[in-house]
Amino acid sequence: ATHSPILAETKPLAGIKNTASERTFIAVKPDGVQRGLVGKIVSRFEERGYKLVAIKAVVPSRALAEEHYADLRARPFFRGLVEYMTNGKAPVVAMVWEGKDVVRQGRAMIGATNPLESSPGSIRGQYCVSVGRNIIHGSDSFESATKEIQLWFGKPGEVIDWEPANWVWTMA
Ligand code: ADP
Repeated sequence: ATHSPILAETKPLAGIKNTASERTFIAVKPDGVQRGLVGKIVSRFEERGYKLVAIKAVVPSRALAEEHYADLRARPFFRGLVEYMTNGKAPVVAMVWEGKDVVRQGRAMIGATNPLESSPGSIRGQYCVSVGRNIIHGSDSFESATKEIQLWFGKPGEVIDWEPANWVWTMA
């Protein structure tokens, strides 16, 4: 009831398409955590103007990692990928970020899957060289984001809605 008209328009409507605001699932993979890149990655999303609505460090179960990467089950690297995500040598830092076009912008900020093809200014393009150690995950579509947020942050209250004071300047 206290929202300004602009804030009312940008009010998060998770699960609804074509609204000004949307959410995506971003995860720093264990290699990114080991390398101390969590802060830099969080900063990039903050500085772009996005809102952090959930964050936790977690060693995912095998079941969670397999479900997360279910589309890749038939690929030759699948076992290695699940092992890399779940072996506990470092946690995954799982996050939900919110804001205008954050699903597509998040993918653009992260860069191509294979660091050989990711542009030098992207996160992967700046920090990694190997497709098997590409430090970060980001949902590739609105549908994937919805599924992944539910998978990683499915308990009530895990995603926290709040109103950034600067959104009248960044998201209008
Ligand atoms: P993205 O993470 O960019 O959405 P994919 O969904 O195609 O890319 O792949 C998921 C993850 O699987 C990649 O980020 C990477 O960690 C791993 N992966 C993809 N291709 C290979 C590969 N050829 N060899 C090893 N790991 C791979």
